[in-house]
Amino acid sequence: MFGSGRYSGLRVIKEALTGHKGWKPAWRDPEPQAAYDTIIIGGGGHGLATAYYLAKEFKGSRIAVLEKGYLGGGNVGRNTTIIRSNYLLEGNEPFYEFSLKLWEGLEQDFNFNAMVSQRGIINLYHTDAQRDAYTRRGNAMILHGADAELLNRDQVRAMYPFLNFDNARFPIKGALMQRRGGTVRHDAVAWGYARGADARGVDLIQNCEVTGIRTEQGRVTGVDTTRGFIGARKVGVAVAGNSSRVMSHVGLRLPIESHVLQAFVSEGLKPLIDGVMTYGAGHFYVSQSDKGGLVFGGDIDGYNSYAQRGNMPVVEDVAEGGMSLMPMIGRARLLRSWGGIMDMSMDGSPIIDRTAVEGLYFNGGWCYGGFKATPASGWCFAHLLATDRPHETAAAYRFDRFRKGLMIDEKGQGAQPNLH
Ligand SMILES: Cc1cc2nc3c(=O)[nH]c(=O)nc-3n(C[C@H](O)[C@H](O)[C@H](O)COP(=O)(O)OP(=O)(O)OC[C@H]3O[C@@H](n4cnc5c(N)ncnc54)[C@H](O)[C@@H]3O)c2cc1C
Repeated sequence: MFGSGRYSGLRVIKEALTGHKGWKPAWRDPEPQAAYDTIIIGGGGHGLATAYYLAKEFKGSRIAVLEKGYLGGGNVGRNTTIIRSNYLLEGNEPFYEFSLKLWEGLEQDFNFNAMVSQRGIINLYHTDAQRDAYTRRGNAMILHGADAELLNRDQVRAMYPFLNFDNARFPIKGALMQRRGGTVRHDAVAWGYARGADARGVDLIQNCEVTGIRTEQGRVTGVDTTRGFIGARKVGVAVAGNSSRVMSHVGLRLPIESHVLQAFVSEGLKPLIDGVMTYGAGHFYVSQSDKGGLVFGGDIDGYNSYAQRGNMPVVEDVAEGGMSLMPMIGRARLLRSWGGIMDMSMDGSPIIDRTAVEGLYFNGGWCYGGFKATPASGWCFAHLLATDRPHETAAAYRFDRFRKGLMIDEKGQGAQPNLH
C-alpha cells in the first residue's frame, strides 16, 4: 500500500546495488477533487498528523490536507525541536505524556527517521521558592506516570561545569530533570506524517490557500480556495499562527493572539551540551544540534504580527539571556535566525474542540510548545473529527473554559502571551 515503498536497511542496500532507480517521491501531488468527507486546513505538523491518524487509526477516507504554501513550511519546520512532558496541571500533563509516549514509538509507526533523541531536559532553578515549585511539578509528573528527578547544584555542575553558577543575581541552585525529554528533527516529522498519510490515500494539496469557509443553515459545506471551491462534510482547522484569520471566515473570534517567535543557531562548535537546558531566571532554552550549532530561543517579539521574521530587540534580549547563563557563548558567532507565527492563547494552553458551526472543528492556541504536542494533537484532533467526542487526554481543551473561568493557566501568568 505504501506509495514510496517501505524504508529499511535492506532496501537501502538493494537500491545501492541497483543504481537507486527504485526510489519514488515520498508523496503524490494530486489535483483537488470536487469534494471530500474531511478537509484539514494547514499542512503543518498538526494538520499532517491529524490526517495520518484519521486515516490510520480511525479508518477515515476521502481526506484532504490543504496547505497554502509547502508542507512543513510553517512552525513545524521553524521550531527549536524540544520535546518534553514536564507539566504540572491536570488538564495538561496527561496530554503531553501521551504525546511523549507517541514520540517514543513514532519512527517505527510511520517508518521514517525523525531522529527522536531522548537526550534529557533540565530546567534550572535559582531560588528556594523555585526549587519548591519544581519539586511540586516533578511530583505531579511522577503521579501521572512521567519521569522526573530533582538535581542539586553539584549534579548540575557535573553535567555542565561551564555554567555561571555564582551569578550574583541568578545563582544556579539545581534543576528539575526529565530524562525522557529531548529533541526531534522537526521537518522530518512533517515529512514522515505526510508520507504516511499519502500512503493511506490522503490527498496532500500544496499551494492551496483557503480563502473562505462556506456554510448553509449553520453547517459547513466546504471551503473556497485559490484552486477553487472544494466541498466537505467536515472541516478541521490546524493553521497555528493564522488561526484568527481563518476562523474569521465564519465570523468566529478566538482567545488567541498571533506573535513572532524567533529561533537562533550558532556556528558549529565541538560537543558542549548533550541535552536540553532551560534557564529558570530568564526566557532562554538551548540544545546543540548534531552538526554542532547551538540551537536556542527566548521570548516572543512583543507585538502582534503575521510576518514570519523578527526584530532586533528580541535578538539582543535572547543573547543577553544566553550570556548570563553561560558567558562563554559570547565568543560564538550567530549563524542565522528566523521567525515563526505563534498562536498564543490567553491561558497558555491549547484548544482542540468543535465550534458553533456544525462540521467545523478547531485546533490551535499552541503558544511556545506545540511541536512536542504534534503526535497527541494529531491523534486527539482525529479522534474528535471521527467520533465528535474529545479524546480523554484532551477533554479540558475546550473553548468554553474561557467563558466558565476554568482556565488551564500552567504558569499562573494570566492573559499575557509573552509569559506563556
Ligand atoms: C521559533 C520557534 C521555536 C519553537 N520551539 C518549540 C519547541 O522547542 N518545542 C515545542 O514544543 N514547540 C516549539 N514551537 C512551537 C511549535 O513549532 C508550534 O506550536 C507548532 O509547530 C504549531 O503547529 P503546526 O506544526 O501545525 O504549525 P505550522 O507548521 O505553522 O502549520 C500551520 C500551517 O497552516 C498553513 N496555513 C495557514 N493559513 C492557511 C490557509 N488559509 N490555507 C491553507 N493553509 C494555511 C501554514 O502555511 C502552515 O503550513 C516553536 C515555534 C517557533 C516559531
